[in-house]
Amino acid sequence: MDFDTIVNLSKSRGFVFPSSEIYGGLRSAYDYGPLGAALLRNVKEQWWRSMVKLRDDIVGIDSAIIQSPQVWEASGHLASFTDPLVECTNCNARHRLDKLEDQDQCPTCGKRGTFAAAKDFNLMFQTNMGPVATAENRVYLRPETAQGIFINFENVRRTSRMKLPFGIAQVGKSFRNEITPGQFVFRTREFEQMEMEFFVRPEEADEWFQYWVKERHSWYLDLGMTDENLRLREHESEELAHYAAGTFDVEFLFPWGWDELEGIANRTDFDLKQHTEHSGKDLRYFDAEANERFFPFVIEPAAGATRTTFAFLIDAYSDEDVSGETRTVLKLDHRLAPVKVAVLPLSKKPDLVEVTQRVAASLRERYDIEVDVTQSIGKRYRRQDEIGTPYCVTIDFDTLDDQQVTVRDRDSMAQDRVAIDQLDRYLAERLKV
Ligand code: ATP
Repeated sequence: MDFDTIVNLSKSRGFVFPSSEIYGGLRSAYDYGPLGAALLRNVKEQWWRSMVKLRDDIVGIDSAIIQSPQVWEASGHLASFTDPLVECTNCNARHRLDKLEDQDQCPTCGKRGTFAAAKDFNLMFQTNMGPVATAENRVYLRPETAQGIFINFENVRRTSRMKLPFGIAQVGKSFRNEITPGQFVFRTREFEQMEMEFFVRPEEADEWFQYWVKERHSWYLDLGMTDENLRLREHESEELAHYAAGTFDVEFLFPWGWDELEGIANRTDFDLKQHTEHSGKDLRYFDAEANERFFPFVIEPAAGATRTTFAFLIDAYSDEDVSGETRTVLKLDHRLAPVKVAVLPLSKKPDLVEVTQRVAASLRERYDIEVDVTQSIGKRYRRQDEIGTPYCVTIDFDTLDDQQVTVRDRDSMAQDRVAIDQLDRYLAERLKV
């Protein structure tokens, strides 16, 4: 499957639209349509479920996007959250130097030796708080959700009475003024992250690091991502961020090659120490039994929600040959599928529509459903396959006599005749949601 195919499907089926499209679009941002918003929400929900809901040792927060500028001074973002920017003296195109295949050739005009010296470009978006724009009230949109967790470490520890090892999780928007956004929603200037900071005793950091690398890799596999499209890559020492003692990336095989979905890093005690130094508040952990204070180490799995959603979409896409015709189907895990059950009356005749409404009402409480009355049944099946709906329930003229419906399975295309009063049980046995 090529890149354009998935981009076109995303637009035509209402997963993702270019932001501000009626004004010509804004290349660095996208809007999620009804199906895309549902898929993105399901990805975030699955992350939250595995990280927070099913665990005793992790709690969730939702911190502000705009924080004190001192946060970014302490974290090092003001000084060093930069990418190397080069500008071509021939065509004026700007590029991120470390992402260029050939660092001496401009990919826009093809000329060699035209780059001026690289500059460090800070990726944080700036704005001003209050009515007057001055340097004193300059603030930043957060470039990661992690710092919102570190600055609340003590608040959360105290109020939730957490003991080491424990984690704090957060899902939300982050903003980076990327030099070259692109590849659809893979790299945007506004995006969503799913991050968790796991605080441990320094001597246990290695063990927990290995644990989280394994755990996070399994999360993608458990949600149906193809093993061959997923790999773990350890950072070389020169690649490591200044605060990290070790990092693994979870990478996905995108249409353009392997690229990052998530980084799992051992951030050591860097962040809590920095915030202690800059705020003057002691963020050390007090171990009552040993009667000692120390800075915990932090293991951080940091994933992109929007980027991961895109990867699930690509991974699920398949074209199959069905009796000489191509069937496009999104083989999404049931938990991720935006619509779980489609209810389709064979015709718009009032008798059938009435039964359709009744069946739909009985399923709506439990599942995300869609009622579709347009076009031929073949076309409607095709549309549901393309958006990854696991089951279609068809109401036909026989239904009026025998009170049975036809249930079609997305993957096998097998059809079963099921009594309406057994439908709930039939679906509950098959839908893994
Ligand atoms: P890159 O090197 O690709 O710029 P990064 O290594 O700086 O990314 P992190 O700071 O580790 O990324 O962020 C954690 C996760 O957040 C990434 O693995 C990715 O999934 C997501 N992410 C980061 N930047 C973007 C972006 N501009 N658009 C979409 N998702 C992003």
